Amino acid sequence: QTFEQAELPAALLNALLRHGFTAPSYIQAQAWPIAMQGRDLVAIASTGSGKTAGFLVPAFLHIQEQTAALQQHAAQHPEQQQQQQRQQQRGGWQSKWNQPQSWGGAGKAPPFALVLAPTRELAQQIQHEAERLGAPFKIRNACLYGGASRGPQGRSLSRAPQLVIATPGRLLDFVTSGELSLNRVSMLVLDEADRMLDMGFEPQIRELLSHMPGGEAAQPLKQGEPAPPQRQTLFFSATWPKEVQHIARQLCRNDPVRVF
Ligand code: AMP
Repeated sequence: QTFEQAELPAALLNALLRHGFTAPSYIQAQAWPIAMQGRDLVAIASTGSGKTAGFLVPAFLHIQEQTAALQQHAAQHPEQQQQQQRQQQRGGWQSKWNQPQSWGGAGKAPPFALVLAPTRELAQQIQHEAERLGAPFKIRNACLYGGASRGPQGRSLSRAPQLVIATPGRLLDFVTSGELSLNRVSMLVLDEADRMLDMGFEPQIRELLSHMPGGEAAQPLKQGEPAPPQRQTLFFSATWPKEVQHIARQLCRNDPVRVF
């Protein structure tokens, strides 16, 4: 397969070519069309297969689409934004607390896509690849992982990242403290899911899911904020034992396409 057949936007194609990608790897050729149709995906892929770009490329396109959809909504409903601004200006601090929080528009929305990874090293590698390949899109990302101080990671959230790459424990920490909402996550990627299960992250992953759209702990949408689309899940694992199959079935909503 060639990149032309994958029908990628020109800017993205150029970024891939610039980084020495000449043709899609097997996993990319399989995963891109499935993911770009909005379908759930289960892929058995190990390091070196090109799996990272396999999920980052669909994530970039998803983020662009969602950002554009929110911008369009804000443009079509300017009265909502103005009304909210007026209410806040008029009321001072009191009404700021008493009124439902206003929706900040696309520029301040919580992340649209989330990549979960088992270790700090892998999360950082994914972030590195996201910055290399995602440069033409200027996508804001944040990388959250344990074993390092919380401060700088927390500050990186104030830039309203569209993409969050994280290990489950530290991410849950930021979510339960209220510093990060997952209520707009409409693309979830699990990288090296088998390793995350081996490391005992299943309870954290389940709790994180409860904070995503449709989950019982999800933060309510703000006044005037359009609902996110149904979540798409891309599930990557190096091995395919029973426990991994079981959790893949639970996490993927619509009958996932398998790439082995
Ligand atoms: P991964 O399996 O995602 O860890 O990728 C392994 C390495 O292969 C990374 O350095 C990628 O930048 C590189 N890579 C991924 N896809 C391609 C491709 N289609 N052509 C050339 N290199 C690639």
